[in-house]
Amino acid sequence: MYLLIKRFKIPFKKQIKRSLWLALSVFIIYFIFCLPGNLFDQPYSKLLVGREGKLLEARIASDEQWRFPVIDSVPAKFETCILRFEDKNFRKHPGVNPIAIGRALYLNAKYKKVVSGASTITMQTIRLLRSNGDRTITEKLIEMIWALRLECSYSKNEILNLYSSHAPFGGNVVGLETASWRYFNRSPNELSWAENAMLAVLPNAPGLIHLNKNRSKLRDKRNKLLKDMWSNEELSKSEYEIAISEPLPEPLNRLPHYAFHLVDRFKESSGKIKSTIDFNYQKQFNNICDNYSRQMKQQNIHNLSAVLIDVKTGEILSYIGNIYKDNDAHAGMVDMLKSVRSSGSILKPMLYAAAVSEGLLTPEQLVPDYPMNFYGYRPSNYNPQFDGLVPADEALFRSLNIPAAWLLSKYGVAKMKNSFEQMGMTSINRPASTYGLSMILGGAEVNLLELTASYASFANQLTDSAKDHFSTTLIIDKQTNESISYPILDNGSVYTTLSALTNTYRPETEAYWKNFSSGRKVAWKTGTSFGNRDAWAVGVTPDYAIGVWIGNSDGHGVSGLTGLNNAAPLLFELYGIMPSTDWFYEPYDMQTNTVCKTSGMKATSFCKETHSKVFPLSSDKTPNCIYHKPYLINTKNERVFKTCGGPDTQQDTFFVLAPIVSHYYQKKHPSHRALPPWNKDCVGSNPKMNVLYPIQGGRISLPRGEREGISSKVFYENKKLELYWELNGLFLGSTKGIHEKILYPIKGKNTLHITDENGNVVKTSFEVI
Ligand SMILES: [Zn+2]
Repeated sequence: MYLLIKRFKIPFKKQIKRSLWLALSVFIIYFIFCLPGNLFDQPYSKLLVGREGKLLEARIASDEQWRFPVIDSVPAKFETCILRFEDKNFRKHPGVNPIAIGRALYLNAKYKKVVSGASTITMQTIRLLRSNGDRTITEKLIEMIWALRLECSYSKNEILNLYSSHAPFGGNVVGLETASWRYFNRSPNELSWAENAMLAVLPNAPGLIHLNKNRSKLRDKRNKLLKDMWSNEELSKSEYEIAISEPLPEPLNRLPHYAFHLVDRFKESSGKIKSTIDFNYQKQFNNICDNYSRQMKQQNIHNLSAVLIDVKTGEILSYIGNIYKDNDAHAGMVDMLKSVRSSGSILKPMLYAAAVSEGLLTPEQLVPDYPMNFYGYRPSNYNPQFDGLVPADEALFRSLNIPAAWLLSKYGVAKMKNSFEQMGMTSINRPASTYGLSMILGGAEVNLLELTASYASFANQLTDSAKDHFSTTLIIDKQTNESISYPILDNGSVYTTLSALTNTYRPETEAYWKNFSSGRKVAWKTGTSFGNRDAWAVGVTPDYAIGVWIGNSDGHGVSGLTGLNNAAPLLFELYGIMPSTDWFYEPYDMQTNTVCKTSGMKATSFCKETHSKVFPLSSDKTPNCIYHKPYLINTKNERVFKTCGGPDTQQDTFFVLAPIVSHYYQKKHPSHRALPPWNKDCVGSNPKMNVLYPIQGGRISLPRGEREGISSKVFYENKKLELYWELNGLFLGSTKGIHEKILYPIKGKNTLHITDENGNVVKTSFEVI
C-alpha cells in the first residue's frame, strides 16, 4: 500500500512546476482568445458624404448615439494633441507602460487615493470596448492583458483609429469625427490646433467638462495642453499664441442637413456612403431651393425637387428630393425625385426628335395647328388660338398641343411608348392602348430623376464622352445605376431638337438673356400637368442637366401653377451658379438641303423663296414641298384650264391650303394669297363629288354609343386630287383615291363638309338618335 502511494505521489516541487505550467498554458490560451472577434459590437450612424468626402447628412445610430463609423486615419494634428495629453509614449510601449504604472502605484500610495490611472491609449481602447466603468484592480489587470493582446494583432495607427472613433466626447457624441462635425461643423482634417486640443482633452472627463458645463475649466485644460505642446516644440510660438486666443465653439452645432431624402434612398446600406454629390452644388441648391420655396408658399405651393446631373459622366451632383422642415405638414418627407407624376408637355422634345429621326418631317416643316378630331380625341392648345400651320420647331418651343398630338398620330403611340422606355423612362409602362394620343400631352407619367436623365442622355450623345448607354449614378465605387437610357436616335435629330429648345420662351426675369454676356445658352422645356398640379422645367447644356419639379406632394393643384411661371425661374436661378459652358458641336451626320422658306420642306421648282439649311440625314426621307402648286390664271385673276382659259393666261404658283387650314393661316399671315376662284366657264369641268353615306337628312341610331363611330363614304371622280373632311367645323383629315373615314358624330344634328383641292364643297346634314 505504501509502495503504491509512493509510486503515485508526485513530488511537491514537481507539483508546483506542473501547476505553473498549467496556469501558464491557461493564461496563454486566455491571452490568445481573450479579445472578442468583433471588437466593437455597436451600432453606427449612417453617413452620407459627398464626392470630396464632406458630410452631407447623418442619421443617429439605433442606440440613440451619434457614433460615426471608424475613421480611416487620425489627422496628424489630433494625434499630436491626444498623444501629448493622454499617452506620450504610445508609439514606444507594448500597450502597457511599466514606468507609468510604477509612478502611478507610488503616487496613489503616497496620496492614498487614485491620482494617476497609468492608462495607455491601448488600455483606454480596451476599456471602451469592454464598456466597463469599474476601476478595480482586477479590471485594470484585464485591461492590461487585453491591451498587450491588442498590440499583438493591431498596428499603432489602427489602435489610435479605434480609440479616436469610440471615445466619448460628451452627451451622446461618440468618436472624433462625430465630435468634429457636431462642435465645429467640419471634418477632423480641417480643424485648427485649438480645436484639436479641445477635442483631445474632452474624452478624459466628458461627463464633467463639456461645452455646456464648466466652459472655463475646459478652456484652461485646452490651453494647458497647448502650452505643453509648445514647451515640447510641437507648436511654434505663433501657433501657440493664435491657438490660445481662439474662443471655444458654441454648444452643439446642428449636423449638416443637405441631403435628407437622399439618405433614405440607401435604406439597406450602413456606415459611410460615399456619394457622387458635389458638396458645394448641393449646399447652394439647398439654399436656392429653400429660399424659392418660401416664395412659393405664398401661392399655397409647398413642395419642390431639383436634380443636377453631370452630362459627361452621368454622376448626380445635386439631389434635392423635396423641401423638408421639422413638423412639416405638407408631405415634405416624400422624395419627389422618385415620385411618378403627370408629365404635361415635358416629353414633347422626345417625340419631335424621334419623328425627325424617322424622316417623318424636317425640323422646320409646317405642321397642322387647327381644331382636329383624332377619332374622338380633340386636344386643344394651352392658349386656345390656332395658327393653321406652324413650323415644327416653333410648335415645339411654343409647346403647342395639336401639332404634338398630330405628330404622335403619325409616329405611333406604341412605337413612342417603346422609345420612351429605351430613353430610360421606366414609369411609362402601361399598355400603349391605355395612353392614346394624350400620352404626349400629360397622359404619360414620369419621375423627375429619370426625366432629367433622359435629357442628359440626349446631351451626352453629342459630347466627346458619348457612351453606348447613358447611366446615372449616385454612389461612388459601386454599380448602382439609378437610370439607364440608350441612344436610339441619330445625333443630327438630337442636335436639331436641342437647338430648337434654346428658343423656348423664357420667363420674364430671363426674357432678355441674349443681351447679357452672362446669359447662357440652355436647351430647355417646361411642362404643366392637367389641373395645374405639376410644374416641370428641364434644361441641358453640354456639361450639366438640371431638372425642377414644383407642386404639392399630396397632388392638389393650384390655380396659376405652371412650368413657365413657377419651375422655369428656379431652373435659371440654379443654372446661374453653374460655370458657363460652350455649346454642342454640329454633328457629322447632317447635310445641307435647299429648303422652301415657307413650308420648311425640301424645295421644288415651284417654291418661290428657298434657303440652305443643315438638316439631319433623315431629311432624305421627307417629301418635297407639298404646298406650292402651279395654276393657270387669266387676266381677271381667275383659275382656268388650258382648254377654257382663253388668251393671255399665265402660270402662277400658289401656296395651296385646305379651306379650314387657310381659314386659320390667313389670320396669322395676312399676306397669304388664297387660291383665286375658278372662272365660271371652266366650272363645268370640275369633277363630280357626292356624299354616299350618311345621306342628307338621314337619322342614324348608334345603339352601342357614339364612340363606335360610323363609316362615311364619298364618291369623287378625280383619282389624283385630295378631299378635305370637316365634321361640325372640326377638320378630320384628308383622303385620296379611296374616300372613306370613320366619323364620331355627336348626338343630335351633325354636318359633314367635304372640300376638294379646287375649293368645291359638298355638304350633308344628318341626325344621330
Ligand atoms: Zn414650297
